[in-house]
Amino acid sequence: MTILPDAKLYIDGVLRDAEGGATFDVIGPWTGEPVGKAADASAADVEAAIAAARRAFDTTDWSTNADLRVKLVTKLRELFEANRGRLSDLARHEAGAALGAVGRAHVDMALDGWDDYLRLFPQVTWEKDYGTRSSFGFESHRKTVSEPIGVVAAITPWNVPLYVNVGKVVAALLAGCTVILKPAPNTPGMGAIFGELAAEAGFPAGVLNVVFGSDPALAGEMMVTDPRVDLISFTGSTGVGKRIMEQGAPTLKRVFLELGGKSAKIVLDDAPNFAMEVATAMLVFHAGQGCAVQSRLLVPASRYEEAKAILKHSYASFGDNWGDFDNPQHIMGPVVSQRQMERVMSYVELGKEEGATLLAGGNMRPDKGNGYFIEPTAFAATNDMRIAREEIFGPVLVVIPFEDDEDAIRIANESDYGLSGGVASGDFDRAMRIARRVRSGSISVNGGMCIAGDLPFGGYKASGVGREWGLEGIEEFLETKAIAWRAA
Ligand code: NAD
Repeated sequence: MTILPDAKLYIDGVLRDAEGGATFDVIGPWTGEPVGKAADASAADVEAAIAAARRAFDTTDWSTNADLRVKLVTKLRELFEANRGRLSDLARHEAGAALGAVGRAHVDMALDGWDDYLRLFPQVTWEKDYGTRSSFGFESHRKTVSEPIGVVAAITPWNVPLYVNVGKVVAALLAGCTVILKPAPNTPGMGAIFGELAAEAGFPAGVLNVVFGSDPALAGEMMVTDPRVDLISFTGSTGVGKRIMEQGAPTLKRVFLELGGKSAKIVLDDAPNFAMEVATAMLVFHAGQGCAVQSRLLVPASRYEEAKAILKHSYASFGDNWGDFDNPQHIMGPVVSQRQMERVMSYVELGKEEGATLLAGGNMRPDKGNGYFIEPTAFAATNDMRIAREEIFGPVLVVIPFEDDEDAIRIANESDYGLSGGVASGDFDRAMRIARRVRSGSISVNGGMCIAGDLPFGGYKASGVGREWGLEGIEEFLETKAIAWRAA
């Protein structure tokens, strides 16, 4: 049953079907059935989008007219506000968000972050005076100016599509770039709405373009290899991120990468509410499909048995309170696709083969519907196991014992990734000492919220390159030019 409006491409100011009229079905994670239809962009459509973005950057005043940009980005924000209901529907039907998760993580955080960008934009330093300097026997006055980098291709994943789309598109537009947004094949509607509302807001043709298709790689690879595109802003898996870096090398593409994670929550022996800290580590929100989720729980070896018992109890109490599309209390629904379900289940099997102890869950749940339901799952594991090393991107937690603070830091850092994490302790200084030594782009101390629209977000190591959100997120789209003029 088709529930969502058809997702149209938006190219050079025109909302339209794909050349030749090809479409593909958007499959709903709750039902495994089509929930919508999307235009299936061809190479010719992608080519048209690149050409339009290039022309708009080179021949219009978009890159220099900051007042116009703020006016239109603000107008677009108002139109998104008026479409909150539709945004929720898209997050639920395309990305499989549960009703209790859709507001917070999908719609509110994204629109709040948009407001943060608008609020921070006046703080961008467009010019900096470097004073005079004498060299080669004469004096020069110097300054730097910041300029938008040019044409940006924003390639985004399906898990929190609105949040990631806003993180890239709004910052790049405010910076003065022109943009081609390329959402994942699972979530084209959350991209298409940018085109629809930009058309309504009156954006100049070519400033924002939206393309998507059934082939996950076609549009992305065209943009990554095309010399007319200046910067790739990518959020997705580490494997595709590496390929983008490689494929972008011949044109020396600027690449900004937000990749996977395997973040650790360290609960120290003196955590004031040890049981609560352990119990709330259950990986259930949005079925664990978040890049920054804390999917490794590190507990003191001296309290390992206690922690496992707490977890067993908390998973049992959570019980079947998930997976109902209409229940506003539910924060967990299905995983996004058949492919993702198979991938997660292959890790559950791997965990058993590796000798990890299953503490909870571990099964698919077809009784919840024809979609892609997997129970909240937890393993007692060691950090050398693949289930502790690799990103599963599903509701699978691993709990690992450590000996002392140094050992906790070692285990947290013994990971290819470095995106986020957490530390809980009754001793704030001790927690801060550990937080500073964990090699990750963000970290929460005693439950602090380290992800917000006004804070830079990004990864160390294989979790990425660069920062999104905050003032840094806007500056990511700027180049610096030094200008000097000879003193009279
Ligand atoms: P993915 O890497 O498969 O796809 C991401 C995007 O890249 C999609 O739009 C896809 O169509 C496109 N793509 C696929 N192949 C491509 C290629 N060869 N060239 C160019 N583009 C290509 O990731 P996914 O499965 O959509 O999302 C899940 C992954 O995203 C997880 O690894 C997760 O950790 C990561 N993620 C990271 C963050 C972050 O901020 N660090 C946020 C959300 C998701």
